[in-house]
Formats: sequence, structure tokens, C-alpha cells
Amino acid sequence: MTTAIDVLSKVSGVPRAEALALWEQVRANSARLKGCEGPHEFVEHEKTGALVRSYRCTKCEGTMPAHDKRRYDEGLEHGRRERTTP
Ligand SMILES: [Zn+2]
Repeated sequence: MTTAIDVLSKVSGVPRAEALALWEQVRANSARLKGCEGPHEFVEHEKTGALVRSYRCTKCEGTMPAHDKRRYDEGLEHGRRERTTP
């Protein structure tokens, strides 16, 4: 039986064991983010020069790409407006 990991390994050229380890890291990170008491409190995590590539939550230790963090912040802001708008 071919699994998604097999396909990912084949198309990416990443050895199956490495692809599986990466997949487990993604699943663990997702579980940390979903289990966070929230709202996330992000600090810079990975940078390339002055460009922040990802952020880490100080509450749950989950990480998020910078683009996703911007969308998360927008959602929080819109949620605050919803609650304060009559
Ligand atoms: Zn968090």
C-alpha cells in the first residue's frame, strides 16, 4: 500500500525515513498550536537576515510561518472588532 509519505518521499527525493520524521514534526507542531490556551504570544523564531521566516509561541512552543502569523494576527484583530462593535 502506497502512503502519502511514500508519495512525498518519491516526488521530493527525501528518503522515506526522513520524510516520515518531518511529517511527525509537523503533526507535533500542529498539536502544540491547537492545544494552546491562546491567544498565541509569538516571538521571532527563524530569520534570514532581517526577514523573519517563522515565529514561536511562548505559551505552547508551537511555530508558525511568518505569513500564517500575519493572518492569525488579522483574525485576532477582526475578532476584537466583532466584540466591540454594537
Ligand atoms: Zn500558542
